[in-house]
Amino acid sequence: MTDERQGLPSASNLERLATCRGSLNAEIGLPDEPNEMSRAGDVGHACLAGEVHIDELDDETAKTVGRCQTLERSILVDLDMVDAEQVREVRFWLEIEGKRLFSGKPDLVAIEGTRALVVDYKTGPVAVESAESNMQLRALAVLVFWKYNHLEEITTAIIQPRAFDQQATLTTYKVDDIWEAYYELLLILEEAQETDAPRKASEKACRYCKAKTTCPEAQKSITDIAKVESNLPEIPSANLLEKCAIAKSLIAKVEAIARKALEADPNAIAGYELKPGAKRQKITNPEGVFFKAAVIGIDGQEFSAVCDVNKSKLKALIKAKTEKKGKALDEELADILEGNTEETRNKPSLAKSK
Ligand code: SF4
Repeated sequence: MTDERQGLPSASNLERLATCRGSLNAEIGLPDEPNEMSRAGDVGHACLAGEVHIDELDDETAKTVGRCQTLERSILVDLDMVDAEQVREVRFWLEIEGKRLFSGKPDLVAIEGTRALVVDYKTGPVAVESAESNMQLRALAVLVFWKYNHLEEITTAIIQPRAFDQQATLTTYKVDDIWEAYYELLLILEEAQETDAPRKASEKACRYCKAKTTCPEAQKSITDIAKVESNLPEIPSANLLEKCAIAKSLIAKVEAIARKALEADPNAIAGYELKPGAKRQKITNPEGVFFKAAVIGIDGQEFSAVCDVNKSKLKALIKAKTEKKGKALDEELADILEGNTEETRNKPSLAKSK
């Protein structure tokens, strides 16, 4: 497969390079490894770009794509850019005196006169920085400015429907802001290209770094945690928690590699095997089950008390029956659910404060 980034940095790397300059050299020659999550994200992006029909997606991805489209539409309306020229999934380059420095592929660029909107969808469950502090979008704004040099204002937007809050964030760059971002990026790239560019491990930087299983800086997190094991602090420091996060992502990567090796060869790792997953039985015909249950005296109310209703599927059913969409569909669903649900909250999770 040809590398459309031509082995050069891309906007999506810049968040990491801003923290860990050494990761540019560390990743050289290492292959991309798509996982289930990135595959679902790729298909979702392809659907948003009009290359795949929504019916070909699994339920979760289709729901995320639908939400992306709704949020995008409302941003275009708010910015009065509904009729703007649109460019989707095109790679832009920053090229100076014939030398390409880096590239990026925004999910959507909308151009209206001297204004542009640059959108990036994040379809995964891990929330990224808001548009204001997002380095990838900063880089994309520079690339779009480089391509359309008549622009006077660029708004960048992150749309991430699966984020708990801030599902859509925006920030606007004026010409001076874009030049400031341009010089900042050039400096990062220049420093990252030094042969002795320093590596700096952090959960955010190492999360998607291809070098993490071989990188001494990332591995040091595990040895540092091991050192405190015999004398655990009463209250762990932020630094120790950061190392735990790096170690967890490193461990997950090692386990994924082991799983892949055992799939290819069951004898690949002495003493380890792939244990078959637990079997689950799924009821595919509740109506048929009800008819048989009724024979032993179970009535409709008792039967529905042991059934779970899938909210997404119910919404799809209401949509098919009523042909309602958007807000009207949400209101119909809310009306049907009214008084028939209860809200619970999961245990608080440990997270970095914003
Ligand atoms: S694994 Fe982490 S520390 Fe090592 S190069 Fe990658 S980002 Fe930097």
